[in-house]
Amino acid sequence: MISTEELLDAIKGRVLLGESMKEHTALKVGGSADFYVDPLDRDDLCRALSFFEERNLPYTLIGRGTNLVVHDDGIRGAVIVTSRALGNYTIKKNILTCSAGVPLPVIAEKTFSLSLGGLEMLQGIPGTIGGAVAMNAGAYGQEMSGVVSWVEIFENGKPRVISAEDIRFGYRYSSLGESVILGSGMKLEKLSTAEHGRRSQLRREAFEKRALSQPLSWPNAGSVFRNPRPEENPSGLSAGQMIDACGLKGTCKGGAMISQEHANIIINTGEAASADVMELICLAKEHVRKMFGVSLELEVKLLGYEKTLC
Ligand SMILES: Cc1cc2nc3c(=O)[nH]c(=O)nc-3n(C[C@H](O)[C@H](O)[C@H](O)COP(=O)(O)OP(=O)(O)OC[C@H]3O[C@@H](n4cnc5c(N)ncnc54)[C@H](O)[C@@H]3O)c2cc1C
Repeated sequence: MISTEELLDAIKGRVLLGESMKEHTALKVGGSADFYVDPLDRDDLCRALSFFEERNLPYTLIGRGTNLVVHDDGIRGAVIVTSRALGNYTIKKNILTCSAGVPLPVIAEKTFSLSLGGLEMLQGIPGTIGGAVAMNAGAYGQEMSGVVSWVEIFENGKPRVISAEDIRFGYRYSSLGESVILGSGMKLEKLSTAEHGRRSQLRREAFEKRALSQPLSWPNAGSVFRNPRPEENPSGLSAGQMIDACGLKGTCKGGAMISQEHANIIINTGEAASADVMELICLAKEHVRKMFGVSLELEVKLLGYEKTLC
């Protein structure tokens, strides 16, 4: 058992008991975390991590909660949030050194404004650098793995730097697994004026495409399913195209709906429960399995679930 006083003594930042995760996730579903820890700075975050590790107590690190589905019964143990504690970055020449809690849109905008390329197409991804490195986030031909030179993790009570050569990256995957990411160094490309102009145009087109094809005004967690590997998917369709072909756009369970604009996105129309979202996930999986013989895998991360229910 954690003594709450002991925890409050150990951490300088905010510690909230029984904090609803609806407030801290883009999809706005889910119950409460036993402890919601918002450390003040990097040292404070490391202290919080050590506090839970030394006592062998469960904790989950989150960034901006843009890729999460939290169980209605909430999360046992602590949720430790990085946004405030790990919020610094520096740019020297074409080298970006960025703490894990910095929002990716901020960095994508800033670096491109300095004529540095490599992250500009990722501006529409609303997560943090830590979440993006962990997931190897990507869009419109760019992925985090294209720029990451090294990653700093917190391991056995201290920071350790891992070179990119020692990390495996794949489609929405990194071998960093459960590692706690404190920050990352990235090597960006210096852009000529002509190349900056060309990419500005590509970026504008990507923004327009995103605005037209995604339900940006509704709470959601981005793509629910990964696109299946080509060798397991003779149809060649994306996850969203398969769900659409099953006629599921607009299907509702409680307050959750398979988006009319993008079949691989589930939106919260107001009062969705996590159970509603999970029903839609299972429904989509079942239909796609029957129609295409493909077993869809989740891209969103489930928190508080012992296992996927289908
Ligand atoms: C409208 C919308 C559009 C999106 N578009 C895209 C897109 O085009 N491409 C794309 O790839 N994704 C997209 N996403 C998904 C999401 O934004 C990304 O996966 C993002 O990288 C998640 O970052 P986060 O900080 O919100 O992570 P969270 O959702 O907070 O966490 C996601 C996972 O990362 C882990 N994590 C977070 N921070 C750390 C850390 N510091 N160290 C270790 N693990 C950590 C968490 O434990 C969890 O497992 C979209 C989401 C939304 C809502």
